Amino acid sequence: MDHLPIFLNVKGQRALVVGGGTLAARKADLLARAGCDLTVLTPEMNDDLARVVAEFGINHKSGDLSADDVHGCVIVFGASADPDMNLKLHSLATAAGILVNISDTTDLCDFIMPAIVDRSPLLISISSGGTTPLLTRMLKARFETTIPAAYGRLAEFAGSYRDRVKGAISNMARRRRFWETMIAGPVAEHLFSGQEDEATALMDKLLEDAAVDGGEVAAGEVYLVGTGPGDPDLLTFRALRLMQQADVVLYDRLIGDGILNLVRRDASRIYVGKMKNDHSVPQEEISEMLIRLAREGKRVLRLKGGDPFVFGRGGEEIATLAENGVNFQVIPGVTAANGCAAYAGIPLTHRDHAQGYIVVTGHEKDGDLNLNWDSLIQPRQTVVIYMGLTSLGTITEGFLSHGADRETPAAVVENGTRVGQRVITGTLESLLEKSTAAAIESPALIIIGSVVTLRDKLAWFERGDEA
Ligand code: SAH
Repeated sequence: MDHLPIFLNVKGQRALVVGGGTLAARKADLLARAGCDLTVLTPEMNDDLARVVAEFGINHKSGDLSADDVHGCVIVFGASADPDMNLKLHSLATAAGILVNISDTTDLCDFIMPAIVDRSPLLISISSGGTTPLLTRMLKARFETTIPAAYGRLAEFAGSYRDRVKGAISNMARRRRFWETMIAGPVAEHLFSGQEDEATALMDKLLEDAAVDGGEVAAGEVYLVGTGPGDPDLLTFRALRLMQQADVVLYDRLIGDGILNLVRRDASRIYVGKMKNDHSVPQEEISEMLIRLAREGKRVLRLKGGDPFVFGRGGEEIATLAENGVNFQVIPGVTAANGCAAYAGIPLTHRDHAQGYIVVTGHEKDGDLNLNWDSLIQPRQTVVIYMGLTSLGTITEGFLSHGADRETPAAVVENGTRVGQRVITGTLESLLEKSTAAAIESPALIIIGSVVTLRDKLAWFERGDEA
């Protein structure tokens, strides 16, 4: 190890930054945020620095640099454009035994500044010891995207309970288990979704139970997670996090392997989709299963294609959970309309084509489509139809018999966003024939409206897929 990684408490301590540019501004900003009593010494300030100085009320000195300026400081930074000034600062600081950092001059640094990921009070600092700043930046970007912003809130919340937990659970191993439950469970999830009061109530309960029976309690919960239309990259961070902490997962046929592989390895998997005999597990049975598993204390992951609240029966599932007092969360996903549109190069609205879009189901109930044709056949509107492949003929006929132009552009997107996505474009008149000829299969989404013509210009996914 070339450096000692430490987090320095500089609250109320004196520090000095010499320099008037953006480098000085960045240092000043960090030092001020860490609570330093900071002075910036420079004849002139650029806008960046002036903003920081004004924001934090930092002392500004424009005269010469002297031993008095460094006297009493815990650390000093040289970020001047004038190398002599930096050298002078270095020798003054060294003579006074004060830690000094001169920007971009490793030889003149007692310490180096790491890249940081700030989720205060949680702070991650990364350093390659000055060897590979690019690698440091890459790692920082990785952490920035994988560590939710709300982890800071979690750390703060946990910190506020530290003494109480210590007082209530004296055994260290049990205390650790308590924190594990708290950090990976419903308390944290409520905090992440901004429900501080619920988190506090749950935490108090958890603590109370832990004090009584040794911390074995774990309230079960159901996560109703939208996974998007298929491309695993379209998952939300939150979905992924819950997928990685679930004990059991219920999924159906819309959930592809790419997504299922991201579920925690040792979670049990329960398939509740259509079986070979075409019978799916009835909705009531799924709801009962969710309740039973949650009551066993399990973290139950219910994966839904697309968004749970768009033709996903999510509303029904959580209604039953709510009635039975089971905790749950709903995590939105990219719905098929949005995913398919983006990956097929068909904007759903466009100033020159459509002022709005309407989303309906083409699923027939008792042989009847039950669509409000007048609301569908409107000028400058895109119509998106879910579950409409089987009734495609009835749908296009319905449009035509209710007065739609037979040349109205229309498309079918099969396996949208997934490898093997296919897009068939045509008109209300030709779409059924083209789609049948191409043997289009489920899942498929129908898009009707003049926006479909934009695909020729805008498609970027699987460009060679036109059938
Ligand atoms: N909750 C889901 C929709 C479930 S209904 C969502 O928000 O997307 C199932 C229908 O969604 C399918 O019949 C199909 O019309 C559409 N669908 C879902 N995933 C799709 C995909 N990858 N490509 C095309 N259509 C899809």
